Amino acid sequence: MTDHRPAAAAGEHDWRALATCCNANATYFFPPNHFERKPEKDTREAVARALCRSCPVATECLGYALRAGESHGIWGGLNELQRARLRRRVSA
Ligand code: SF4
Repeated sequence: MTDHRPAAAAGEHDWRALATCCNANATYFFPPNHFERKPEKDTREAVARALCRSCPVATECLGYALRAGESHGIWGGLNELQRARLRRRVSA
């Protein structure tokens, strides 16, 4: 499995070491290179979210994704559309 989480910046706590997805298949967290139908996306994201629900660093993961403007994938249990909605709510 390839760790798909970002490298920690110098001085930043390396929350990735505690990530539930460390040993999970990254294909659950990011869309494939080919067109993905909605039912396939929903199934893939449900697997990823189930892992995120038991993750002790979900808050750190989501915070990173929001700060970094990650535009793809599941981070902290939220997909790109959910993160965009959250950003809008917070900035409103
Ligand atoms: S919250 Fe989800 S995507 Fe983030 S580190 Fe944990 S398992 Fe991985």
